Amino acid sequence: MLGEMASRVWKSMDEHGFRLDLPSSRSVGLVGGYLVVLAVLGVVVPGPRIQGTVLADKTRITYKCNGLNVLLVLLVILAGGSYTGHFTPSVIADLGGELFVATLILCFVFAVYLQIVGSVSRSQSTSLKSHATGNIVHDWWYGVQLNPSVLGLDLKFFWIRAGMMGWLLINLSIAAKMCYEHRSLTLSMSLFQIFTLIYVLDYFWFEEYMTSTWDIIAEHFGFMLVMGDLVWIPFTFSIQAWWLMTNLVQLTNVAAAMDVLIFLIGYTVFRGSNKQKHIFKKNPKALIWGQPPQVVGGKLLVSGYWGIARHCNYLGDLLVAFSFSLPCGFTSIVPYFYPTYLLILLLWRERRDEAKCREKYKEVWVEYCTKVPWRIIPGLY
Ligand code: NDP
Repeated sequence: MLGEMASRVWKSMDEHGFRLDLPSSRSVGLVGGYLVVLAVLGVVVPGPRIQGTVLADKTRITYKCNGLNVLLVLLVILAGGSYTGHFTPSVIADLGGELFVATLILCFVFAVYLQIVGSVSRSQSTSLKSHATGNIVHDWWYGVQLNPSVLGLDLKFFWIRAGMMGWLLINLSIAAKMCYEHRSLTLSMSLFQIFTLIYVLDYFWFEEYMTSTWDIIAEHFGFMLVMGDLVWIPFTFSIQAWWLMTNLVQLTNVAAAMDVLIFLIGYTVFRGSNKQKHIFKKNPKALIWGQPPQVVGGKLLVSGYWGIARHCNYLGDLLVAFSFSLPCGFTSIVPYFYPTYLLILLLWRERRDEAKCREKYKEVWVEYCTKVPWRIIPGLY
């Protein structure tokens, strides 16, 4: 199903001006310049330093969580550049297909670099120890190190930041292009832009919560994550915007209000559940919904969202993803690529996380599952 959808997406993107071309020097410069500027801003812009999760060897990585400040500075720079005529806001939308190819090639090469550096690493620390299996394709795809870094910059943390900001920049650029071509934004495009802007700002406002997520603490850094962060997130999460640019959907006020409601419910559940877990991990006695937390085995939270389903955060994320696509109406499945992909990903991820937790927490996890039988959707799944 996803394959059929993906081929329709490709066809539709091509029709909407997203042409796959070999990258020009301008595209390469844009992608390279973007990463360099982000790295520099990441170093010079202030922000809180947060200690990451305790790793297997009892060490912790310190993350500079200045993503929101960096994003704001970047937006100010781009707005200034646009005002003075040094930057054309629609340039990302104009070069879409070229930028995609340039970024994909960069990710390919970067994953090879990570594989080589990781494979020759002699470090025994949890972050840098080599997990090379000898299978070249496997090691390139899944990565061989947990938290590689360059000049003190944690590459995994940096890469996902670049992907999330890239997604926002693509959306904004498409909005700018639509304004040039149609003189205004449709209600559908405005809703999509507002929802995704809130989502990205929220991501960076709570950037420190990322330090305890699966990708950061459990996944090695290989092509899967490298490409997932820098190509998949920005280019596939923005499909609705590409689609809305040429499909001028007329949304009724009732449909728009329903969509806003779904977004707000999803966002509340998504943010609330992730926040509860994060706070619980930092302070297991912190109140949850005004009550002392109920806990299984002293380790697993059974209060709040975590007592309703074992992954309410996935449910919230899915509702939000759905609300991003609803402004596009129901005439095509193309704009529903993101929620469909996310559903498949999170179902798979939940199973993997379940296996990990069962192995780690043993009878405590069994007790938790007895108390909270639902995986993602209370009463249904
Ligand atoms: P979670 O944030 O759900 O973390 C799972 C971990 O939390 C478990 O491995 C376990 O870790 C701990 N845990 C599980 N149950 C409990 C409990 N009851 N009490 C305390 N700790 C518990 O996983 P993800 O990193 O997968 O997801 C984070 C967010 O990112 C989600 O909202 C998800 O929707 C979103 N996401 C979005 C994606 C996208 O493409 N848009 C892709 C992937 C994720 P431990 O061993 O440390 O206790």
